Amino acid sequence: MTFRQARYDEPLIWEIREPAGTDPVELEGVPAGLRRKAPLAWPELSELELARHFTRLSQMNFGIETAFYPLGSCTMKYNPRVAELLARRDALLGAHPAQPEETVQGLLELLYELEGALGKITGLPHVSLQIAAGAHGEFIALLMTRAYFEERGETERTEVLLPDTAHGTNPASASMAGFTPRELATDRGLIRARALREELGPRTAAFMLTNPNTAGLFEEEILEIADEVHQAGAILYYDGANLNGILGKTHPGKMGFDVAHLNLHKTFGTPHGGGGPGDGALCAGERLAPYLPVPRIKREGDRFRWDYDFPRSIGKVKTAFGNVGLLVRAYVFLLAHGESGLTAVTERAVLNANYLARRLGELLPRPFSPLVKHEFLLSGAPLKERGVRTLDLAKRLLDEGVHAPTVYFPALVEEALMVEPPETESKRELDLFFEAFRRSVQDTPENLHAAPQNLSVGRVDEVKAARELLLSWKDLRRRSSPAPEG
Ligand SMILES: *Cc1c(COP(=O)(O)O)cnc(C)c1O
Repeated sequence: MTFRQARYDEPLIWEIREPAGTDPVELEGVPAGLRRKAPLAWPELSELELARHFTRLSQMNFGIETAFYPLGSCTMKYNPRVAELLARRDALLGAHPAQPEETVQGLLELLYELEGALGKITGLPHVSLQIAAGAHGEFIALLMTRAYFEERGETERTEVLLPDTAHGTNPASASMAGFTPRELATDRGLIRARALREELGPRTAAFMLTNPNTAGLFEEEILEIADEVHQAGAILYYDGANLNGILGKTHPGKMGFDVAHLNLHKTFGTPHGGGGPGDGALCAGERLAPYLPVPRIKREGDRFRWDYDFPRSIGKVKTAFGNVGLLVRAYVFLLAHGESGLTAVTERAVLNANYLARRLGELLPRPFSPLVKHEFLLSGAPLKERGVRTLDLAKRLLDEGVHAPTVYFPALVEEALMVEPPETESKRELDLFFEAFRRSVQDTPENLHAAPQNLSVGRVDEVKAARELLLSWKDLRRRSSPAPEG
């Protein structure tokens, strides 16, 4: 038994049939100036042809409902149907961000309760749901950090420190917010408080940390780290993109963090990647709370309203509701699990990670400590002896009908692979993945170099793809018959 799926090579509808010059449909009430004047250059297909075309296209896609999706630092977990159904209710789909508060009391109450729950989960009680994604949360929190130091007159704090295990968005957000990011070397994947002390100083604005970190390791010296950062007057930032390693067990508040972002689209069962927009939450302790975006939801008796009265706030950063469909999904996820269910999520995710780490560790070396939280690293370095690289292995896994793990991150591990098996995977699926991985590692260098061979598209030229962006049929056509110059 494998995950392998059928191979399709579905043409574009323009390739199935030449454009026919469909006459424009006469729509009543459309002003004359807005009506289409020329026939539409679209191919005409029968309804069945069209249905088959799109069905086949959908099968060329890969999603969490196709097979295991072990992308580390991404938490690709099942998106429960109940949350999908509730997020698609007409009342919600028809709501408008500028609707009067009295007409969206139920939604405001839901968001208020979600804020409360996330405040409790993080131990940082002041919450904004306006954040569009993880990286947006980092950026906003750093703008809040700036505002905090500007108000205190500490404008010499221009540096943001982060470990060499940090997610790439951390230094990018720091630069975008006007700080200079500086990377610190970890010791066997961990930050040592004593070494950190040497690096902290009057120029440090913040230290950004993920815990457990992207190597799946829990920072053993986290309390000492928090003390050092605070003694230096800096902000301790928690990158909480993935909470699968600690949910219900501990929280960033207890570890001494000042502010945290959460990726609702990773931990809280809402779609991400190709499945839809992301959504985040920003949770702050007392130090940064006054700077959170406005408006914030205020409860007055049994009524809820938007409150703009936070004079030190950095302002509005997105529509007040945030990506509200994802907020509803996250709320349903929390209600469906309950407190003990959330703890069970972590226990199951950590068990899955350790089980799979132990099994895959028979095939490739693991750079750090044997026990991990929600994810783990492998090194594909020994494959180099056979002229094979981690990239080849990742492509070969696609031929097994499974998604590849995250590769070449973090950079401190040679030929890194990062695997994350969330709580929604069963032992059977993990064992299937192990077998797919074993077949891939043991395959011939020729097959590994040629992979993927079972997909509609073979190995793409990534440099060319990045340099020559052809994103639509029109781009392609323009390129094959370039417009005359001049
Ligand atoms: C995914 C991730 C981010 C970025 O989140 P986006 O929603 O993709 O912007 C930041 N940090 C870590 C550790 C992550 O895994």
